[in-house]
Amino acid sequence: MTAPPRIALLGFMLEANGFAPPATEEEFRSKLWLQGEDLLTDVRSATPRDPGGLVGFVAEMDAAGPWTPLPIAITGAGASGPVEQSFFDGFLALLEAGLRAALPLDGVYVEAHGAASATVDPDPEGVLYAMVRRVVGPDVPIVSTLDLHANVSAEMVAHPDLLIAYRTNPHTDMRARGQEAAVGMRELLSGVKTAKAFIRLPLLPPSVALLSDRGPYGAAIARGQQLTTGPIINVSVLGNFSLGDSPKNGMSVIVTSRGDQAAAQRVATEIATLLWDRRGELVANLMPIDTAVARLKEVVANPAMPPLLFADVADNPGGGGRGNTSAVLRAFLEAGIGDTGFAIHYDPTLAAEAHALGQGARFTAQLNRGEDFPGSDPLEVEAEVMALSDGEIVGRRGMIAGRKQSLGPTAWLRLAGRIEVVFVSIRHQCLDTAMLEHLGIDVRALRGIVVKSRGHFRAGFDDLFSDERILEIDGPGLVSPMLARIPFRHVPRPIWPLDPATEWSPG
Ligand SMILES: [Zn+2]
Repeated sequence: MTAPPRIALLGFMLEANGFAPPATEEEFRSKLWLQGEDLLTDVRSATPRDPGGLVGFVAEMDAAGPWTPLPIAITGAGASGPVEQSFFDGFLALLEAGLRAALPLDGVYVEAHGAASATVDPDPEGVLYAMVRRVVGPDVPIVSTLDLHANVSAEMVAHPDLLIAYRTNPHTDMRARGQEAAVGMRELLSGVKTAKAFIRLPLLPPSVALLSDRGPYGAAIARGQQLTTGPIINVSVLGNFSLGDSPKNGMSVIVTSRGDQAAAQRVATEIATLLWDRRGELVANLMPIDTAVARLKEVVANPAMPPLLFADVADNPGGGGRGNTSAVLRAFLEAGIGDTGFAIHYDPTLAAEAHALGQGARFTAQLNRGEDFPGSDPLEVEAEVMALSDGEIVGRRGMIAGRKQSLGPTAWLRLAGRIEVVFVSIRHQCLDTAMLEHLGIDVRALRGIVVKSRGHFRAGFDDLFSDERILEIDGPGLVSPMLARIPFRHVPRPIWPLDPATEWSPG
């Protein structure tokens, strides 16, 4: 009888916006930090903090038979700026020491986002995978999950045996992909060797064009699933994170097969060609702020009309936005609109002030003190403290359903007597109605909601807002999908659509 396989568990999750300030150790520790047995306890709990890859992987490994999990560590900062190099180097050393202490190993699972950069090194995941390979040697399977927004390098593809990207955007399949990784791990443990094909296209899509249920991106993912048969283990279609401003930028395809290189290459070529041929459909259709104001005025004036949800996509913290641009809020205040909720604004200074003043206090709120990013303009407005919380929530629906999330000290302020705004102390995108409801806000009674999120909110609000009631606003911010306005420095050129004459052909 053979001993149960010894599998190391680790992770590093960062979507790095090349234009946002560096992601610090403090930010990582406040958002996701699990080490040793705490990691295993978390991912086996009913309300984990882990984003899902490890949760699914461990659950499937547990279900499939005996194994020995060796939890090392995971950290993550969601989306932010490039990770501070010294922190990444230290975390890498911690992982390496943990792996060496866990030897001998039969396999390693890595939960990664894949769109990280560091303040010095443009390819932290490539460095991470190379380190794992160096420690465990050439024959131990390494399986990793990636966010579908990963910016993939050849180095990242070279070291793992199997890379599996999310297939849904909004990301509701993180656990499922972790489970798939465990199924793949069991197969690799039985001795199967993989072959991989990797194609990166000179294609830089706006983030809003990457929903997985429509358009060329949805078609490519669906076709990849049809082709996952015979020798093909996995087809991953990566939309890339355009604002990473990375030499790794570009939509890409990774196909993994059971040792059949030609089959993997054929499938990768077909998917890449589909994306390239339909690239003209990868466009943003955003609404000017003035138009959004006019649309909401109609709805507020006519109770028979259903409410509207506006996505302030350019200030999405889920892409590294500051979560506090004030242009939309200012426009709505100036238009005299009421019955509208804004979720969620990152302003720890204002949240702390509201906590100090207490529930019921009225004061002049000054937004964005000390912020100097484009669009994070100061705003002064009369406010009432409606409710306060410690910001510890559990998601209701969608991406954080059943998961814990910390918003830090949080305040619901009523601005100008008619607009409800939730101010938080830890930068997050609005993913879930729980971010408003935990304070007592009646989301269903609002005539309009403005969320700072690019698209992931859709999974948390889909029972309240159908597609045609969701409008994407063209506001300021660090994550505007209007790519022609972005001062890219590091993306490989030429790339479409920045360079309209860009050419690509398979092979
Ligand atoms: Zn993503």
